[in-house]
Amino acid sequence: MAEVDVDSGGIIRVMPEVLANKIAAGEVVQRPSSVVKELTENALDAGASSINVVTKAAGKELIQVVDDGSGMSERDAVMSFQRHATSKIKSIDDLERIRTLGFRGEALASIGAVSRVELRTKRREAQAGTEVRVAGGTLEGTGPCSVNDGTSVAVRNLFYNVPARRNFLKSAATELRHIVDTVRFLALANPAVSFRLIHDGGELLHAAATDDPDAIRVRIGQIFGEPVVDNLVVVDETTSYLTISGFVGTPENHRRSGTDQYLFVNGRIVRSRYLGHAVRSAYGNMLP
Ligand code: ADP
Ligand code: MG
Repeated sequence: MAEVDVDSGGIIRVMPEVLANKIAAGEVVQRPSSVVKELTENALDAGASSINVVTKAAGKELIQVVDDGSGMSERDAVMSFQRHATSKIKSIDDLERIRTLGFRGEALASIGAVSRVELRTKRREAQAGTEVRVAGGTLEGTGPCSVNDGTSVAVRNLFYNVPARRNFLKSAATELRHIVDTVRFLALANPAVSFRLIHDGGELLHAAATDDPDAIRVRIGQIFGEPVVDNLVVVDETTSYLTISGFVGTPENHRRSGTDQYLFVNGRIVRSRYLGHAVRSAYGNMLP
């Protein structure tokens, strides 16, 4: 952009980076479950085979995601908190063949802007791990640490520096429901990865990785219980421009609310009233 000569009457100024990040964070981080989603997707992108999610007070006190993925070098660990810093795309052409869940390089910057984050990471070939601490968008410290191969990100006191947003959070029960729902979504889409969710010290979900050829069916059983698996109907449809696959329940097992609908497009979570309604209406008058 050409430089503009602003006279002394000008009132427009560029926001300090910390403020800009705090505002931009609103788009990425709506609630604790958004943090769970972003951190877990990063773990998946890092090739993790096992992902543990630990939360306290419905994520208001702590959201921690521990993975056994690639880990990061010391330099990358610090870089990862910068806005638009990503290892996932280099050029505009890469956008055409994106295979990762993230690529905008905004999640860690946003999360770090509105919480206190402690990231510990170690690459398999490295001797020691690296710890990076960020609070309210400011790098607080970095140094060597001992940690297993992979990455652990602990997010504490979400929105501690944005009181309006903190007050806007719903009850613990509601926020926890969103967290469980998010982990279920990601676990269903990735049956080859082992998932565990621990909330306030209790295990809410544990789905071990499976090499069963019918992996998704196994995963559904792990998440919703075996009786649900016994009443599934296979959906498998291929047209010239798309393939739809998955399972639906028999009409006897229907629930009035659509909360147990899990739809994905190429592994990405889709929440769509429209599609949800389409699935329901396909049952016609079989539903009461
Ligand atoms: P994006 O996922 O869009 O690239 P993020 O802000 O979520 O942006 O992450 C920034 C970068 O940090 C990633 O591109 C990746 O290189 C690195 N990173 C983040 N989380 C992990 C993780 N759990 N394991 C390994 N690398 C990670
Ligand atoms: Mg990401």
